[in-house]
Amino acid sequence: MIEAPPLSSTKNRPEAELLRLRAEIQSCMRCEALVRCRSCVVPGDGSVPADVVFVGIAPGRLGGDRTGIPFSGDRSGQLLRRMIERVGLERVFITNLVRCNPRDAGGRNRDPTAGEITSCREHLRAELALVRPRIVACLGRMAWNEMAGRSIPFMPRPGKPIELGGRVLFPMYHPAYVNRGAYPVRSYSRDFGRLSRLAACGG
Ligand code: URA
Repeated sequence: MIEAPPLSSTKNRPEAELLRLRAEIQSCMRCEALVRCRSCVVPGDGSVPADVVFVGIAPGRLGGDRTGIPFSGDRSGQLLRRMIERVGLERVFITNLVRCNPRDAGGRNRDPTAGEITSCREHLRAELALVRPRIVACLGRMAWNEMAGRSIPFMPRPGKPIELGGRVLFPMYHPAYVNRGAYPVRSYSRDFGRLSRLAACGG
């Protein structure tokens, strides 16, 4: 479980700090397999500070791995960004559990291993510390398990937010799940409406 850092660790110049953090993340060589198959490293991107951080799994082969921006250039990114825009969420930051595209032997997307998620945990922690969101929307079970811990069930239908470590964690399906028809777009849209109302409630 990743908890909010104490206020004393907030930096005074978030833009400069974000640039520094991005450079650090982009030079990461921790995971041998990912260093071999990635085209680029994909740090989180968006507003600093932000009201909502979206945490996905890993940049996609046809998306972030080519664009360098999480959830962009592929169908998952299109759906996520369409939903964010539709409900008028503005101060958002989008990131992933890992910042390199994991591929299997056939060159297809695969889930990151537990070791890869652990290796990238410091990057996620640093981004969250800088962005200081009130709400973290966890896109799928993997993101939920990382943020909430495995002992709290992933319940996105309907999204039941929990308060943990100074933040609200909001469980949502991953856009790829919706894109493959496993959950209706209309229901997903409603979930984003609920998220947006939660964000509008303020602190
Ligand atoms: N693109 C991302 O950045 N993350 C995902 O989890 C899927 C697609």
